[in-house]
Amino acid sequence: MGLIGGLTGEVEARHRARTPCRRLSPTSAGEGPAIKATPADQQQLLELQAIDTALDQLRHRRSHLPEQADLAAIAKEHAAAAEELVAAETQVSDLDLAVGKAEEDLVPVRERRERDARRIEDGSIGDPKALATMIEEVEHLTRRIAKLEDIQLEVMEEHEQAVSVRDRLARHKSELATRGIEATRRRDEVVTEIDAEVATRTAERETAAAAVPASLLELYERTRSSRGGVAAVALVQKRCTGCLIEANAADLRAYATAAEDEVLRCEECSRILVRTKESGL
Ligand SMILES: [Zn+2]
Repeated sequence: MGLIGGLTGEVEARHRARTPCRRLSPTSAGEGPAIKATPADQQQLLELQAIDTALDQLRHRRSHLPEQADLAAIAKEHAAAAEELVAAETQVSDLDLAVGKAEEDLVPVRERRERDARRIEDGSIGDPKALATMIEEVEHLTRRIAKLEDIQLEVMEEHEQAVSVRDRLARHKSELATRGIEATRRRDEVVTEIDAEVATRTAERETAAAAVPASLLELYERTRSSRGGVAAVALVQKRCTGCLIEANAADLRAYATAAEDEVLRCEECSRILVRTKESGL
């Protein structure tokens, strides 16, 4: 069967199901030769299917854990916070340097003003013109110091703000790390629980599969892979519990008259159809 044939297989099966003269035997809907199995073996297949369905659900749950999604979201937020913190730390260390420089810039100017002021006070400058120039220089230096002190104050305020931003980000990052540890613990708890359930079910499956005849098991596995994991279903109230389509009168007659060891296939979905007390035949 080619790719197109494979894709249209189910559609064709449905078409055949609606064509009155289509059927050769109750098992004609399936692929391969008809298989015989005792009613007990067929029941066993339903048990195996129940375990496989539970296992599939557990595996699906394990790969779609909300706890895993929570953890991923926290990890992403933590990475972003770490990046922001690095930027904030760089900002603080840049401003550390700027604060130091502002202080350093003031030192020589203050020293010079003090030196000049001492010379004016101690009367060591005799020349009135030189004295006037010196007084002017002291005034100039005083204005310069005021300007440098303004710059220093500004830089110190910026530094203070940067430190507060950095500390806030560091706290945020640390909170996220704590939440990450907690989320990891919750995720691991659920995974451990699921894994234990999977181990139990897998052991049950081995026992259940060992009880099914090889040819029936082979048909089951083949059907399972082509029918979304559901291969064996019960016929309940004339309805296939795989595709949920009610069997038509002709199919029901065929199902009812088939030998009990005949393995039936749903005419609509080709799944192995197991007769039960509730089949309504
Ligand atoms: Zn069906």
